[in-house]
Parts: sequence; structure tokens; C-alpha cells
Amino acid sequence: MNEQKSTYGLIGYPLGHSLSPLMHNAAFEALEVDATYKLFPLKEDELDSFLKNLKEEDSPIFGLNITVPYKEKVIFYLDNLNPYAQKVKAVNTIVVGKDRKLTGYNTDGPGFLAHLTELGFDSKSKRISILGAGGAARAILSVFCMAEEKFEWIKIYDIDYDKAKALVLDLSENLNCQNVEVCQSIDDLNIELSDLLINATPIGLKDSDDVLVEPDLLHANMLVYDLIYNPAETKLLKMAKEKGAKVSNGLGMLFYQGVLAFQHWAEIDLPEIVRNKMKAALEQGIK
Ligand code: NAP
Repeated sequence: MNEQKSTYGLIGYPLGHSLSPLMHNAAFEALEVDATYKLFPLKEDELDSFLKNLKEEDSPIFGLNITVPYKEKVIFYLDNLNPYAQKVKAVNTIVVGKDRKLTGYNTDGPGFLAHLTELGFDSKSKRISILGAGGAARAILSVFCMAEEKFEWIKIYDIDYDKAKALVLDLSENLNCQNVEVCQSIDDLNIELSDLLINATPIGLKDSDDVLVEPDLLHANMLVYDLIYNPAETKLLKMAKEKGAKVSNGLGMLFYQGVLAFQHWAEIDLPEIVRNKMKAALEQGIK
């Protein structure tokens, strides 16, 4: 990594209360690197000049994370696109080279997969129900469709049926999306039969949100994974726990996508001790 004081950061809009600075600044501190990670809330009309300025010699920025609504838009500005990001057609990490050339990666899907593996879940021959067909679902679906050992089925439901249909059609251009079914109704998700239920909607972020799923469909032989990590236990997770299901929030996904992004910037494997400091910073951040 560059020895001079370098800047890294997150672009998106709105950014709200992001935990990424806590995690990445903890890593810089642990590695004794004089660099900083900042939030760059960019409105639509600011994106173009921001990304063009990245290529300037005197820019202090050497790496970025990208969140909604720019994960697809940034691709236009890149000089290189990693093959996986090319298949997913979304980028959440940019590395700025010494020559100021921009390379795009996607660590959301691999981050999710790394956490699932840590939880002991292998998607081979599994039945998977997904709620929501936005950016996060795109990353998740892509890693499942890329796996050599195939799932039995994936059913996906979004409040906007056409959006879910379009997502699967779009991913099918580059990936094997066989046995992925887009559901017209939440009842068609067959949650009662599934081994893994993923909430990739924002429903559950607010206290006032209802749970989308009928409690009686949840069962003890499943993992319920809610991408939301704040609150740490959504109503969905609480309900699933009461039914004996294994549960997880999305903090692990956030952690692993961050570790993988950092590794792209730094071109090193982060030692366990640094990873632990990143994790501790995240856990502290949601307390
Ligand atoms: P997004 O692009 O807005 O996608 C969410 C999707 O859910 C949208 O298509 C939305 O439809 C749909 N939806 C909303 N209400 C629904 C309902 N009642 N039933 C079915 N579908 C519904 O957001 P995202 O970036 O994918 O993020 C989704 C969630 O995952 C957020 O809570 C986000 O914070 C979380 N997330 C976590 C991580 C992590 O690292 N843990 C990473 C990424 C995202 P409309 O667009 O029509 O509303």
C-alpha cells in the first residue's frame, strides 16, 4: 500500500450511518498505516466529476467502496473490470492503481459466501428462498449460480415482480440460473420447505416494520439469514429463533466484504489479528 497519507472511502447516497469507516480505520490503525477511510455522500450530479477527479495525479484517493445507487453506474468509469464483477454487472470496490487506472471488483457476493461458509452452510442440493431482488440479492444470487455444486432450487420474490424477473434474466446472460424461479407471491417461496431463507429487503430496519413471513412457515431445520445488521436482531430473526431455526444477521457479510475490499486495496492477506480488530470495531459500532 502507498506509504503517503492516503484516502479511501465509501460513495453512495444517502449514506446514513455507515459502519465501514469504523472497520477500515481499525485496520489502518492495526497495520500502522497512515491512511484514512471517509464517507463521500454524493448526489447524482456530483458522481461524474468525483470519479473523473479520481484519475488526477494529485488525488489522495487510492480506493473506494460503492453502495446504492451507484454500483452499476460506476462501471462506465472503470479501466478494468474483474471477471466476477463483469458477470454480476455490479461493483462495490474500486482500486486506484499507481497509474491512476481504476479497477472494479465486487466483494458483496464473495463476502456473503464467506460468512455462509463460516456458519457451516453449503448450498449444494439446498432449497433457498430469497426475499427481495435489489442490489444485495443480485450479489447473492450470482454466487449461488456460480457455484460448481448446484443448489436444488432457488425461489425469489420481490414486491415488484418485473424487477425480480429482470434480475434473473439479466444474470442469466452470464451465469447458469437454471432452477431459479421468480415468484408472483410470497406464498410461492415455499419457505416451509427451504433450508435457507434470506431477507434481502429493507423490511425489518424499522421498529414499525411488520414481518413479511408467516411464523408457521419457519422451522427448526433451516437457516434464516437477514442481511440487516442494525438492529442486530430483527423481528424475523427473533421469530425464527423461537421456531428453533438457526439465525444470522448481516454483520458477517459486511465484515467479509470489507476484508476482501481491503485486501484488494492493500494487495495483502489481512492477518487474523487485523481481521479481529475490524470485527471488534463493527461489533462496537452496532452496540
Ligand atoms: P435494494 O436494492 O433497495 O433492494 C431491496 C429490494 O427489496 C427492492 O427491490 C425492493 O423493492 C424490495 N422490497 C421492498 N419491500 C419489499 C417487500 N415488502 N416485499 C418484497 N420485496 C420488497 O436494497 P439492497 O441494497 O439490495 O439492500 C437490501 C437490504 O440488505 C437492506 O436492508 C440493506 O441494508 C441490506 N444490505 C446488507 C448488506 C450487508 O453487508 N449485510 C449488504 C447490502 C445490503 P422496491 O425497490 O420496489 O422497494
